[in-house]
Amino acid sequence: MRAIAEPVESAGTDPVPRRPLALSPSRASDFKTCPLLYRYRAVDRLPEPPSVPAVRGTLVHSVLEQVFGHPAVERTPELAVAQVGLVWEQMVGDYPDLLALLPAEDLPGWLASAKDLVLSYYTLEDPRRFSPEACELAIEVEIAGSVPLRGFIDRVDLASTGELRVVDYKTGKSPGPDFELRALYQLKFYALMMYRLRGVVPTQLKLIYLADGLSLQYAPTEDELLSFENGVVALWATMTRALETGDFPASPSSMCGYCAHQAICPAYGGTPPPYPGYPGRESPLPAGQLEPAAAAVGDAVALTEAAVKVPVGL
Ligand code: SF4
Repeated sequence: MRAIAEPVESAGTDPVPRRPLALSPSRASDFKTCPLLYRYRAVDRLPEPPSVPAVRGTLVHSVLEQVFGHPAVERTPELAVAQVGLVWEQMVGDYPDLLALLPAEDLPGWLASAKDLVLSYYTLEDPRRFSPEACELAIEVEIAGSVPLRGFIDRVDLASTGELRVVDYKTGKSPGPDFELRALYQLKFYALMMYRLRGVVPTQLKLIYLADGLSLQYAPTEDELLSFENGVVALWATMTRALETGDFPASPSSMCGYCAHQAICPAYGGTPPPYPGYPGRESPLPAGQLEPAAAAVGDAVALTEAAVKVPVGL
């Protein structure tokens, strides 16, 4: 099951070692939306209260993962619906604070909404007709010799002919045209990782929107992924400069309404805490002495791939 939130290092007293920074679709999106939001999440690792929709997303993802853990013939809608209550009990056991998030009187309706999402899945696919190669796949890969990518893929399907499909579930509704590109960014990111990891261009990228029972599908070409890779490398270079200098400007937008850090955001009259420095660095580099530029795209790649659980806050 996915973790609800990434453990947070608190004021230097938390002994939990942190993993080296890496670029994930979420963190790339944060930085592009608001560099200060990226800093608060990836560098300061400030806690954020879990939202009810996010918890439901975790629940539904875990249920679908568990459904595929059963033999194909057993993956019925009834089994999936029954899993909702079981997985919820497991989540509450792991994170008792979830009970405070959901008042007891709201719980039945909320669980029913999760069951509706699970049933919606069956209008799009029949999990009895295929078996994924992997669910909840954590992958890490280094591109261009020095750009670390990290991702968490909901499902990977591998056909007997070798064709690869990358699938991501969304518990919200399908996006309008303006947000389709943003949705595809995540899938292209995963496709690039799989391409560099396995040397195969995924045949299909598929986003499944459970709230309205629609899917978004895309077939990338190798040229598109290589072009996308150039953009990812350039973004990491920009992020690295910000990490070295501590210059993470606030960039107000409609997303501020969802931001948990308005109280310490200059755009809202707040004051950011002192910059803690580039995570993992003993001391910041002197001004003007920045990270070397990323190596050429396509350089040596360090790979890991594991169907293991990692925190969602990559
Ligand atoms: S409130 Fe808006 S501008 Fe400020 S950190 Fe959050 S997203 Fe960025």
